[in-house]
Amino acid sequence: MDEEITDKAKKSWFTSEAILIGAGAGMGVDSGLPVFRGENGFWKAYPPLAKLGIQFEEMANPRWFRDDPRLAWGFYGHRFNLYRKTIPHKGFEILIKKFKDENIPTFIFTSNVDGQFQKAGFPENLIMECHGSIMHLQCMESCGYPIWPIDSGTVINIDSETLLAEEPLPACPNCKSIARPNILMFSDFEWDHSRTTYQRKKMDDWLEDKKQKKLLVIEIGAGSDIPTVRLTCEEIFQLIGDQFIRVNPVESECNIKDSLSLSMGAENALKIIAK
Ligand SMILES: [Zn+2]
Repeated sequence: MDEEITDKAKKSWFTSEAILIGAGAGMGVDSGLPVFRGENGFWKAYPPLAKLGIQFEEMANPRWFRDDPRLAWGFYGHRFNLYRKTIPHKGFEILIKKFKDENIPTFIFTSNVDGQFQKAGFPENLIMECHGSIMHLQCMESCGYPIWPIDSGTVINIDSETLLAEEPLPACPNCKSIARPNILMFSDFEWDHSRTTYQRKKMDDWLEDKKQKKLLVIEIGAGSDIPTVRLTCEEIFQLIGDQFIRVNPVESECNIKDSLSLSMGAENALKIIAK
């Protein structure tokens, strides 16, 4: 690793007055979470779907909640159970310490739906989840009942051979129709974006307030397949940022002037920057 780059990254970490974190799927890898890139990664994580020949892009579609609700909840319930029992890696700890112990204002922009930043201790009002969250549900029939958080005691039992969830499946408290995670899926025209729109407003207010501060933008584990996190981080940096660091073990190249690229995983990079 180029020492000049890590020195610059450290300097910016220790002198920043505010931090915006942009996190993609790579952020969760060091906590042991799977990345669903390519059918091999996905089918390794879900052998029953490999048997059925269903790929991630097909499975992540709201139609399953109508066509085969037990399989839909088997898939999302498995992810929910996994995310709930996952312990966020040391990199999250480094970020939360900076925020809580050193009082450095921090905002999270993430495409991850896994609720790991909340779990690590970040307050709900400092997080924007651009693809929604598995920890929140919406009614499949759009009866008008607003998005609600999944009950902390919810247990979704799943048959590991078939990936079918046991009934009763999560349901709308108002009209009793089947519920679905408030996640933006593929071909998803029914996604209720009201929670995410509210988070966007919070983020815009936060950024407006940080215009005069030395803002460090750290983008972590965000791929170029679905470039929302990458583009958002670049845009914010170019508008009001002081330094931009891209952390990615495979796609760390960056064309932005004076940006820093760290070709490594999230936990390792944060440990190095904060040392
Ligand atoms: Zn309903």
